[in-house]
Amino acid sequence: MKTMTCKQLGGACDKTFHANSFDEIAGMSKKHAMEMFQKNDAAHLTAMNEMQDLMKKPEAMKEWFEKKRKEFEALPEEN
Ligand SMILES: [Zn+2]
Repeated sequence: MKTMTCKQLGGACDKTFHANSFDEIAGMSKKHAMEMFQKNDAAHLTAMNEMQDLMKKPEAMKEWFEKKRKEFEALPEEN
């Protein structure tokens, strides 16, 4: 089990997510981002806009994703 924060995953707050795989944690942060989007949270809206800009450039998006995956993999295992 590893932990990453919303901010570390391109979000805007210090909420933590716990998962065994990067894909799982990415899904959790995405779900959280959607919830915050629905609440019209300004900080998350800004963060999501930046992510959407990144998504327009598939290469940059892929690079960002791989960077985050490596960050996740470098984290210590928690029990
Ligand atoms: Zn957040």
